[in-house]
Amino acid sequence: MNIILLGAPGAGKGTQAEVISEAAGIPQISTGNILREAVKNGTEYGLKAKDAMDSGALVSDDIVIGILKDRIAKDDCKGGFILDGFPRTDVQAQALDDMGVRIDKVVEIAVEDSAIQKRMSGRRVCENCGASYHIDYKPTEIDGKCDKCDGKTVQRKDDRPDTVLERLSVYHKQTAPLKDYYGKQGKLVSVAGREEISETSAAVLEALGI
Ligand code: AMP
Repeated sequence: MNIILLGAPGAGKGTQAEVISEAAGIPQISTGNILREAVKNGTEYGLKAKDAMDSGALVSDDIVIGILKDRIAKDDCKGGFILDGFPRTDVQAQALDDMGVRIDKVVEIAVEDSAIQKRMSGRRVCENCGASYHIDYKPTEIDGKCDKCDGKTVQRKDDRPDTVLERLSVYHKQTAPLKDYYGKQGKLVSVAGREEISETSAAVLEALGI
């Protein structure tokens, strides 16, 4: 099954992608995590992407489409995958179609902007493996340490309030129109993102019939 998770930054796509990944046994592909890794390692496209990421803008379509193409060509994607944070523009959605990728379901996690702004300030991510947490809603067992790999959990630079506003504006302008694109194909299901993560997960899994 090939699944897309849509939703504003901070709506909980990453967390729900992890849940689906475990339940369905298919990999989670987060272009944001791949890009952050590239920035950390100082690779060529990491250097190109860094400024856009820090300011809350989108990285160019060419770069992210290239990343995605390479990633879904790997063996572990043969039985399906979950796209978390891709596509984000109509050019990217078109690129998936052009690659011949058949999308089964698109799940939107719907959360009000005001709730997002509140959530982002508490979000923490593991520097090492990218797992995401929240200081109130999904705390780590040991403060500041990733439950999965013991890495250090930190606040992302782009989770600062002014950058969050910019990211929300980019989402509404460039990504939200994709709801129509997939809605017209009968693939879109919308799930209300709740504060209680397990409630959202139950609704997401039900929407996917998992
Ligand atoms: P995320 O963790 O998904 O919120 O992504 C963090 C940042 O990476 C975004 O704010 C963008 O700058 C960049 N990024 C991730 N995925 C994409 C994408 N599909 N298209 C363009 N930029 C992206």
